[in-house]
Amino acid sequence: MSGPDVFDPAARIADNLRARIASQGPLPVSVFMMEALFDPMAGYYATRDPIGAGADFITAPEISQMFGELLGLWCAQCWQDMGAPERLHLIELGPGKGTMMADMARAAHAVPGFTEALKLTLIEASAALKMVQGRTLGKSGLSVGWANGLEKAPDGPAIILGNEFLDCLPVRQAVRQDGQWRERVVGLHPEDDTRLAFHTGPVLANDDPFIPDALKDSPEGTLIELRPGDAQIVDALAARFAGHRGHALFIDYGPARSEPGDTLQAIRAHEKVDPLDAPGTADLTARVDFETLARRALAAGLAVHGPLEQGAFLKSLGIERRAASLSAARPDQRAIIARQLHRLCDESEMGALFKVIAISAPGLPAPPGLHPFEG
Ligand code: SAH
Repeated sequence: MSGPDVFDPAARIADNLRARIASQGPLPVSVFMMEALFDPMAGYYATRDPIGAGADFITAPEISQMFGELLGLWCAQCWQDMGAPERLHLIELGPGKGTMMADMARAAHAVPGFTEALKLTLIEASAALKMVQGRTLGKSGLSVGWANGLEKAPDGPAIILGNEFLDCLPVRQAVRQDGQWRERVVGLHPEDDTRLAFHTGPVLANDDPFIPDALKDSPEGTLIELRPGDAQIVDALAARFAGHRGHALFIDYGPARSEPGDTLQAIRAHEKVDPLDAPGTADLTARVDFETLARRALAAGLAVHGPLEQGAFLKSLGIERRAASLSAARPDQRAIIARQLHRLCDESEMGALFKVIAISAPGLPAPPGLHPFEG
C-alpha cells in the first residue's frame, strides 16, 4: 500500500522536475538528464545497480572477462612505453560493478613490475555502485581509492579509462529554426500537466562553444546534440597531462563523424522506453560525438588516436587468441566463449557501433592498436 510516508523515487523525481519547471520554466535536456540520473536520493544511478542480465542493461566487461583482460595488457604496454614509471595511477571513470578493473588487475599480474607500480582510483557518482566496486575489488589485493571527479584524482603518471561513461554525461539539444539554433527544453505537456513534453526554448548564441563545428551550418529543422560534459573531461585531461605523462581511453557507442539527430535514449529492463516517462526509473544515455571530442582534445594540445571500432580494436589486441586459449582450457565453455566473442566484436552486435578513442599527453608512442586521428 502506498501512502504519504512511503518513499517513491519516481514520484520524487517527477515532483522535483515539475517544481523546477514551475519556478524556472522549461529545463534544458541536460538538466532533465542530470536530475533523472543523479538526484542523490532518487536518481536512477543513486538508487540501484542497473547493470547485468537481470537488470536494465549489460556492458562489455559484464559480457566477458576477455574485455578487461585485454585492456589490462593494453595498459601494461602503455606503461612500458611511458618508460615504466615507478608509480602509475590507474583511474577509472564510472566503473559500474568494478568488473573491468578486477579483470584488468588480474591480467596485469602477467607483466613483471606492473602490479607493484599500480595505484587504483575510481570515480563514481553512485553511492550504491561504490559499495559494489569495493566488494569486487577488495579481493584484488591492490590499493583502491575513490576520488570526487577527475580534477581531484591524485597527481602523477596515469592511465584513465571509461567504458560507457561518456554516454551518460548530460547532453543539451538544439533545433535549427529560422536560421538560428534554439535550445530544446523539457516542460509540461500542454494537455496534461502531470506529464512532461519537449518544447523549443531560447535562441542560442551563434558562437555557443558546444555546437559541434561540423554541424554549425545544418539545414532548417535539424536537431543536434551538444556535449558540455565531454568538454569538461577534455579540460581536466589537458590540465593533468600538462604536468604528467598519461593516456585516457574511452570506449562508447556513437559514430566516428559528427551526425545530427536526437539520440537521447532510455532503457529499462533491456527495452527502449520513452525518456520522459517515469524519469529516474530508466537509464538515459546519448550517443558520443567522437569527432567533436577528438577535435576538442587536439585543440587543447593533446594527442588523439582513433576512433576505431571496438571489434577491430579487440582483434588487434588478440581477443581471438585469448578466446581460443580459454576454450582450450574449458572445452565445456566453448559455445559460451564463442558467443561472448561474437557479442563484443561482430558488426551486428557491439563490434562496429562501439568505438575506442585514446586522448593522451603529447609526445608518447602511439597506444597499442590505435592510429592517429585523421582530422
Ligand atoms: N563502466 C561500467 C559501467 C558503465 S555504466 C561498465 O562498463 O560496466 C555508467 C557508469 O558511470 C556508472 O557506474 C555510473 O554510476 C557512472 N557515472 C555516470 N556519470 C558519472 C559522473 N558524472 N561521475 C561519476 N560517475 C558517473
